[in-house]
Amino acid sequence: MKFDFKLQHHAETARAAQLTIGRQPLETPSLIMPAPALTVHDLAPAEVKRSQIKGLSIDESIISQNPGTETVRDLGGLHRFMAWDGLVIAKPGDFRHLPLVKKNHLTKDGVRFHDVKTGAVRLMTPQTVIESQTELQPDIMLMLSQTPSYYAPYDYVEKAVAINSAWAAAAIQKLTADSPALFGVMQGAGFAQLRKQSIEALAKMDFSGYVIGGLSDIDNDKEFDRVLKLSVDLLPADKARMVVDIQSSAQLVSALKNGIDLIETSLPTHWGRYGKALTAQGLLPIKKARFAADPQPLAEDCHCPVCEQYSRAYLRHLLHMDNSVGPRLISQHNLWYLRQLVSQARLAIMHDQPITAIFENLI
Ligand SMILES: [Zn+2]
Repeated sequence: MKFDFKLQHHAETARAAQLTIGRQPLETPSLIMPAPALTVHDLAPAEVKRSQIKGLSIDESIISQNPGTETVRDLGGLHRFMAWDGLVIAKPGDFRHLPLVKKNHLTKDGVRFHDVKTGAVRLMTPQTVIESQTELQPDIMLMLSQTPSYYAPYDYVEKAVAINSAWAAAAIQKLTADSPALFGVMQGAGFAQLRKQSIEALAKMDFSGYVIGGLSDIDNDKEFDRVLKLSVDLLPADKARMVVDIQSSAQLVSALKNGIDLIETSLPTHWGRYGKALTAQGLLPIKKARFAADPQPLAEDCHCPVCEQYSRAYLRHLLHMDNSVGPRLISQHNLWYLRQLVSQARLAIMHDQPITAIFENLI
């Protein structure tokens, strides 16, 4: 499949680029919404599309068990199965959450775990993940990666980095001319030297882009920024970069500032579930009594389908009735609004403007 990545502009370390896969161009930085089991929480793919979100990520380890790789393949692949014509990124999934045969067991061939349906022991290897992902027909695949705990000691992380490099080589050997693009996953926890070793090994292989892995255990935004920055400095500038599982607004801004092209986050639906609406003033807790008779839309400056139709008072009423439509509509607004903020950030980068002001009420 044709995969083309073109840098368009730099503003300090932030950057704007265009990613073309097949015939579809995608302007970056761009938000990627996690749809691990083929849906973004309780939103239909069409509702996500209405928010002009262009990319979804799915979890291969979930799909291979339910509904099964063969089912998705036989029904035309991920795009047709979900009725989604945007970008689809297949992730192997975090195998640390699987019922592993041995915890924290580093092995060069792969990971042994118990099948949730049959209880049988299954072996997940870099090669089986590529085979399964290829059958699902995504646009981009991520390699199976050895992710040690962020707080693991240096020696353990060093061993994990060596295994990760071996897994990268095994994965790339499975590619054929028809394979989707494959991204390598850099590891090394918070150790600059190990991050360097990891990318030096991966850069010798022909990956279409890189994920900066092992960041989701970090619960401190400053530490996240430090590790992201030192990792980005090591990456080749001409390849696409992705970060998964962004968990705070500060991390999102850090990703944008550090020139990450594909930013995966479930923040909009996470906020929606708690009845929080994203606005120019920050997050509004819509369930509060002060919105009970408020005729305004969630955000005055928003033209999303939710803001064009519903008042804060109506959405507050739905939240109060514990009706699932309330969080669902607020999530749709949040998707639209955050996507729009990222589009504004892209525009700012193209005009050499700082992006911090766009997010000042969020961090
Ligand atoms: Zn809106």
